[in-house]
Amino acid sequence: MSTNSAMLPAADIIGIAQRQGRKLLNEIESKQVLKAAGVPTTDTRLARSREEATALAKEIGFPVVLKIMSADIVHKTDVGGVKLGLGGEAAVGKAFDEILAAVKARHPGSEIDGVSVQAMASPGVEVIIGVSRDQQFGPVLMFGIGGTLVELLKDVSFRIAPITRRDAKEMIREIRGFPMLDGYRGSAPANLQALEDILLKISELAAGTPQIGQMDLNPVFARLDDAVAVDARIILEY
Ligand code: ADP
Ligand code: MG
Repeated sequence: MSTNSAMLPAADIIGIAQRQGRKLLNEIESKQVLKAAGVPTTDTRLARSREEATALAKEIGFPVVLKIMSADIVHKTDVGGVKLGLGGEAAVGKAFDEILAAVKARHPGSEIDGVSVQAMASPGVEVIIGVSRDQQFGPVLMFGIGGTLVELLKDVSFRIAPITRRDAKEMIREIRGFPMLDGYRGSAPANLQALEDILLKISELAAGTPQIGQMDLNPVFARLDDAVAVDARIILEY
């Protein structure tokens, strides 16, 4: 069973999953671990029914985003499992039903925990921050232009954790797509210090938590004033 509990320390969230023999933390759990580490995320909660989804949406405030919650589904958008910008109760109810119908049709037999509800974040440049664990070097941090373009562009930088602020600055500035974050052709520049802060916190989290095997914050919205992770996924290693 996945959890939808109030604020728990990262070690507890990881411990619960371990005791249940799970290696994959879902989006809600992954964001709780990130939040505990001081990384800004969109607050995300689990709805198990249409009624719960609309009630949570009202609490969170419109517009909201609904997403499928299933350990069997890695790319939620690909199976019709993400609905953005839902402006009212009716839209939320309809999206809840549509998500379940789409996922059941395209991924029959998948185990579904429910549908997550979160605030629709104002847009930014989509970047990815990731961690993988190398046998020899330990946790390796990755930074790049994210969203759906990440595999296409392969425009990423790497450092072995733990990193310094200087490393974080370099990681951000050495990707080819850096002008996208720096106000290219009059577009709003992203708050680079906010991105550095996230890289440093992820570095600390990865270096200090050996149970974390892999981490993907994709995307992080890099905005004028701040940066926020709107999707997250952690895979444990134990
Ligand atoms: P997946 O990667 O599994 O397909 P995501 O959770 O990354 O699903 O959502 C897909 C896309 O939807 C993201 O790349 C982002 O553009 C958008 N998105 C997701 N969550 C939010 C949110 N809370 N606010 C605004 N846009 C979002
Ligand atoms: Mg994603």
